[in-house]
Amino acid sequence: MRTRAAVAQGPVKPFTFAELELDKPRDDEVLVRIVATGICQTDAHARNGHIPSPQPIVLGHEGAGVVEQIGAAVTELQPGDHVVLSYQSCGHCPQCLTGHPSYCDQAYAANFGGSRLDGTIGIHRPNSAADKVHGHFFGQSSFATYALSTWRNTVKVDKDVPLELLGPLGCSLQTGAGAVLNSFAIPAGATIAILGVGAVGFGALMAANLAGATTIIAVDVNDQRLALARELGATHTLNAAGLDVAKAILDITGSGAGYVLDTTGRADMIAHAVSSLRPMGQAGLIAGAGNASIPAAPLALGKAVRGIVQGDAIPQQFIPKLIQLYRTGRFPLDRLVGFYDFDDIDEAFAAAARGDVIKAILRISSYGSAETADAETQMAAGGSVA
Ligand SMILES: [Zn+2]
Ligand SMILES: [Zn+2]
Repeated sequence: MRTRAAVAQGPVKPFTFAELELDKPRDDEVLVRIVATGICQTDAHARNGHIPSPQPIVLGHEGAGVVEQIGAAVTELQPGDHVVLSYQSCGHCPQCLTGHPSYCDQAYAANFGGSRLDGTIGIHRPNSAADKVHGHFFGQSSFATYALSTWRNTVKVDKDVPLELLGPLGCSLQTGAGAVLNSFAIPAGATIAILGVGAVGFGALMAANLAGATTIIAVDVNDQRLALARELGATHTLNAAGLDVAKAILDITGSGAGYVLDTTGRADMIAHAVSSLRPMGQAGLIAGAGNASIPAAPLALGKAVRGIVQGDAIPQQFIPKLIQLYRTGRFPLDRLVGFYDFDDIDEAFAAAARGDVIKAILRISSYGSAETADAETQMAAGGSVA
């Protein structure tokens, strides 16, 4: 099976398109024709070498598409099913077996290793075995017209929702919404601050709103995003430029926030996150924290800081719930997205890096004329937000 893929070639080099050969799906694998794929910060980190995935590699980990073929052991999917692809996990370590696959013992190898967990690679250059290309990024490598996923990270979704919109549920939106609904499990009436409103931060913000948080503080340096944050449920917004963010949160909340979610990975923001907690408050760190260090003394009054991966979500359970919330208008993910043609992947990465678009989605193929026309009409009617 031939697939047309955008291949990452190393830090900050443009992507190159290549016709590659995909193996037939193994017993546990699924061949998916990719309709659209979100671009996530983690793709940029991998391309830029901040995550040491081997290169050249086919990145892409917010794929949405249509099942073409299934392996012999796949029982819950059929050709023709609409699916969202999510993160990969091993299935048999203690965390996987106790319902926490995002904290899999092999999370790194399974998502960033550039191969299957047994070391094999199901994507090749057609005529050159020596010129290796890596794949299986997040168990999908969906910057391509076709991808090999496995049943573990392939989520069947309803066909009445525009498939092009749904890929970001597989990583960034699941991460933000899951941090609030699963990791924090905030109660109604909660006070929460969200540091950074990119796609992860907006996922968290929309989830906090629908969970009944009564104080939702969005923090960013982009005033357009802060304006949208207000529209989508933030009760307060803070432009972090030149601001003592922790003091500002304390001024708003009185005794501090019950929950603070950092999506930036910046040491200064992580320090603000800890300093703005009230007694027994919880801080969640989404992005790699780099060299940040957290002083112990401010945590004395029962405060907690934890890392959060993929919002503790089990994708097959969580993503359909978010789709149902979208359908009923309570998780308006369409407000976040801007669409780009697959061929314009470099421009889409640049726009995401500049902050011109909250969630860039690459259109890779269509999925049926009538449905596509409907979806495109809906997109044109207000899907794109700069
Ligand atoms: Zn595992
Ligand atoms: Zn991601």
